[in-house]
Amino acid sequence: MKLAELFNQEKTIFSFEVFPPKRNNPIETIYQTLDELQEIKPDFISVTYGASGSLADNSTCEIASAIKQKYGIESAAHLTCVNSTKEEVSEVLRRLADNGVENILALRGDLVPDVPPKKEFKHASELITFIKETKDYDFGISGACYPEGHLDSRNQVEDILNLKKKVDAGAQHLISQLFFDNEVFYDFVDKARIAGINVPIEAGIMPVTNKKQIERMVSLCGASLPRKFTKMMSRYENKPEAMRDAGIAYAVNQIVDLVSQGVDGVHLYTMNNPYVAKRISESVKSLF
Ligand code: FAD
Repeated sequence: MKLAELFNQEKTIFSFEVFPPKRNNPIETIYQTLDELQEIKPDFISVTYGASGSLADNSTCEIASAIKQKYGIESAAHLTCVNSTKEEVSEVLRRLADNGVENILALRGDLVPDVPPKKEFKHASELITFIKETKDYDFGISGACYPEGHLDSRNQVEDILNLKKKVDAGAQHLISQLFFDNEVFYDFVDKARIAGINVPIEAGIMPVTNKKQIERMVSLCGASLPRKFTKMMSRYENKPEAMRDAGIAYAVNQIVDLVSQGVDGVHLYTMNNPYVAKRISESVKSLF
């Protein structure tokens, strides 16, 4: 099923993101994670894609296919383009289609140190146009969006106008970058709607369970940290269990507010941690 069709139902969508096991970890480790995530019955699970776009690594396709075929949950494969040629992207599309994957989260990706970009794709919108023009397949296409603006953009207006180009190219659904202040998200959605972006926008929620993890994420994506969040981190940074519980509670509060305000969906960045995903799901499952 195409992800956009999920949003036609009269319910708020609850979905997860997982990533393929890091180098040196066997692929089986993700299946142990998925065995546990399956019990929560999310509406779909998306699988990240390596930024370098290496064809040798088929794990995203393999995992997205298993989520659908083995676990009976709809899936989406992330696909980046800035470090790939059109020929390489065509090969990935063929593999995804051959393995029954129906949905793609089309991304530009980031430049990787020591990997010169291939220059055939500059933006996610070009990847979306390319996928749409490949008439052999009919993928559901999603895109990424940035409640606080993408770091490469000069300002939010420019970023939202570029987002509109992505939707006009064929993105049928958007998933947001993580954020810790729901007001920032509501303001962004209002502006996106005024700009004529009318596809479902899912809120990306990352439960924070340790300070190092969040410092790394924030340096990569520039999310702002509200005072109550930084207070929480500094109070519990040396108490791992308390930090984890506080991070789970913070994410639960965000989700309760988002669902109450009528958000289209919540996309949980699980960080491949089924314990945290389960704790959160148990607290909010009756809301969806
Ligand atoms: P784009 O949509 O191309 O936007 C990038 C910048 O270019 C923005 O500043 C935008 O305003 C501007 N822009 C966009 N279109 C145009 C245009 N037509 N003309 C001029 N300017 C334009 N990275 C990975 O490597 N693997 C993953 O699996 C992955 N998953 C992600 C999932 C989500 C939900 C999110 C939010 C991000 C993910 N990323 C992933 C990170 C992503 O690759 C980076 O944030 C990247 O820098 C931007 O990707 P994009 O698709 O949003 O790019």
